Amino acid sequence: MTEFQDFIDDNHIQEILDRAGHPEPARIRDIIDKACELKGLTPEEVAALLQTRDEELLGEILQAAHKIKEDIYGNRLVLFAPLYIANHCSNNCLYCGFRRDNRELQRVALTMEQIRKEVMVLEREGHKRLLMLCGEHPTRSSLEYFMEAIETAYATRTEKGGEIRRINVEIAPLQVDEYRRLKKTGIGTCVLFQETYHHETYKIMHPSGPKKDFAWRLTAMHRAQEGGISDVGIGALFGLYDYKYEVLGLLLHALQLEKDCGVGPHTISIPRLEPAFNAPAAIAPPRPVSDADFKKLVAILRMAVPYTGMILSTRENPALRSEVFAYGVSQISAGSRTNPGGYQDDSSDRFRAAQFNLGDTRTLDEVIYDISRHGHIPSFCTACYRLGRVGKDFMDLAKPGLIQKFCQTNALFTFKEYLMDYASPRVREAGEALIADTLDKSYRTKRRQMAVSRLAQIEKGARDVYI
Ligand code: SAM
Ligand code: SF4
Repeated sequence: MTEFQDFIDDNHIQEILDRAGHPEPARIRDIIDKACELKGLTPEEVAALLQTRDEELLGEILQAAHKIKEDIYGNRLVLFAPLYIANHCSNNCLYCGFRRDNRELQRVALTMEQIRKEVMVLEREGHKRLLMLCGEHPTRSSLEYFMEAIETAYATRTEKGGEIRRINVEIAPLQVDEYRRLKKTGIGTCVLFQETYHHETYKIMHPSGPKKDFAWRLTAMHRAQEGGISDVGIGALFGLYDYKYEVLGLLLHALQLEKDCGVGPHTISIPRLEPAFNAPAAIAPPRPVSDADFKKLVAILRMAVPYTGMILSTRENPALRSEVFAYGVSQISAGSRTNPGGYQDDSSDRFRAAQFNLGDTRTLDEVIYDISRHGHIPSFCTACYRLGRVGKDFMDLAKPGLIQKFCQTNALFTFKEYLMDYASPRVREAGEALIADTLDKSYRTKRRQMAVSRLAQIEKGARDVYI
């Protein structure tokens, strides 16, 4: 079995940033041109973009990211709901409400029956994709418990064909053979955030518990790949350390995965610190990231790793979320709760069991209304993973632009299902208009015939239609 080592060198990252200094406009424009060829960027090029302060150039960076996002992902946005199943935790992350020393938190580990009920609520709203998560605890969140929860969620069905078709997971680092067992439950992407790539900050933020070990966490997604999980996701928690440093950390992590495992991460998540109950670093973030810098970092990541999906959660408020969709975000959570059991019990006391506060508390239907009015097609698609288009196979298809062809069409089909089964009247009206408009603008001859005929089948009752 391969032993993976810590590959993050703080001095090296800082040197790349320092060397980029004050880049010349001509160099920035060359880098922008290169990014538009969709071949990705080197750490040195990314550092130059990060160091740019000139407003005009920043505008050009945002525009380029917008173009790249449109070229690769079109106007669709994949939707999912997080499902927190337990909040016991042996760690003490200074930014998290679940931390061990938060004695006032209401600790909950949902039973399988409670998980089934949570999933039923989500299915009845129209969700098809979940991200399942919990705290790190040897008995209350054991791997066996987590795997049983996945099986329970997949087996839960509601009327109108309500079912969960893909469960992504966010679970504390495991050994290779444990990842191998986890894969057998049929998970989609396995996600883990490094939180910060800066060793000293990591040490301060994680004073005790198994999470103290930076390298064990850093190499977890390598072990997941070795255990046969093809789609892995990485992320950094913005607000703990310099955002420029973290962007380079994410890029180096992605490149290392590509080098060692043959494929980079399927997704990058970009959470920003939100206030959390009894969590000192969340109440006063050490290195807060402004909205302007947040937009800039989203755009630069889009240019640096164009084929890696980018995930934004309900931590952000609706206005900012709408803006950053344009610069590269391809997946969002909607209608979220961060307290285990929060979908069934929406009482105001829920914050005493929540991981952090939400910036966007709208329902799925409200989010869909908003995004579809802005021309984005909400997608609940799970086709690639179910057809085995994962890992390197997914990237090989994505690069020549093929994925766009499948994804756009499957987005229309799953959106149509949502409109038929779950949408409010105003969403149905806005959604049907958006589907018609998309068919007119982007579908010709045979492809149009195929799409129109499948949409008609869905109208008549067919479900889970995909190509
Ligand atoms: N316990 C596991 C772990 O730490 O990886 C599972 C996921 S944890 C429930 C999910 C993620 O929430 C963490 O990785 C962290 O980045 C994020 N998080 C924790 N506190 C947060 C806060 N105050 N604001 C925003 N995100 C936060
Ligand atoms: Fe536990 Fe994860 Fe929260 Fe840290 S971030 S306290 S590991 S739930």
